[in-house]
Amino acid sequence: MSLKIYLDGQLVDEKDAKISVFDHGLLYGDGVFEGIRIYNGRVFRLTEHLQRLYACAKAICLTIPMTFEEMEKATVETVAANGLRDGYIRLVVTRGVGSLGLNPYQCPKASVFIIAASIKLYPAEAYQNGLKLITCATRRPAPAALSPQVKSLNYLNNVMAKVECLQAGCDEGIMLNEQGYVAECTGDNVFAIKNGEVYTPTISSGALDGITRRAVMGVIKDMGLACHEVTMTRYDLYTADEIFLTGTAAEALPAVSLDTRPIGTGKPGPITGKIIEAFKKLANSEGTPVPY
Ligand code: PMP
Repeated sequence: MSLKIYLDGQLVDEKDAKISVFDHGLLYGDGVFEGIRIYNGRVFRLTEHLQRLYACAKAICLTIPMTFEEMEKATVETVAANGLRDGYIRLVVTRGVGSLGLNPYQCPKASVFIIAASIKLYPAEAYQNGLKLITCATRRPAPAALSPQVKSLNYLNNVMAKVECLQAGCDEGIMLNEQGYVAECTGDNVFAIKNGEVYTPTISSGALDGITRRAVMGVIKDMGLACHEVTMTRYDLYTADEIFLTGTAAEALPAVSLDTRPIGTGKPGPITGKIIEAFKKLANSEGTPVPY
């Protein structure tokens, strides 16, 4: 069945959802995006995702041609039009059509499109048995280049790190920042558990301020466990009892080795299992209702 895509104010058929070759989103990766989950007929943490979208747009001097409320409505209506009760939303704002040349001020109007579909990031067995990780040689970009907080359409750095993972026979990898401290994974945040306490790299280490990261940190605190945001090195990961990753598309899943070294027992850890269960419960129990 053909998907209905929201494109600049209208719901159109998938085959008609097209963007100009002069769009600066395509020519320069000039734009921002969000990935959002639908659980049990509700959009998870929609407000937080849209707040991040608008903040990222502001950071790159991009005017989104819709109010926050209009964007909220367009998002849930796109989900409703596709009848999705569980799935994934990709919301993209491009700089829009302009001339050849970088000047973003020659793009009179940003374009907005919203895709509501399904996504399968990792094979089912990865959720059961855990992911194998490598440390990527590709580093997170320095904040002085482009802030790692900007979820821009320019993901080439992450794509190159992902290529390293896949070439090494792994699904994900750890990305370090310029100083060699752990930042995050190519598309997920990372957590480590040691002696019953949970640790995750600070945002200033170059980790994206992940919405799933925030939700999982809340879950961990509600479970009565300590969750520390710290500067981390690979030592902290190699010697951790458990490691798990979080992200909207990935959800939450265990990692069992890093650079071929087993983490803890080399099997998904028991605390990780409890955190993932609690996260799933939370995700299925809240959110913005979809007007089906
Ligand atoms: N880090 C990176 C680089 C990402 O692209 C993502 C997912 N978009 C995340 C972390 C996880 O963030 P969130 O939980 O908001 O999806």
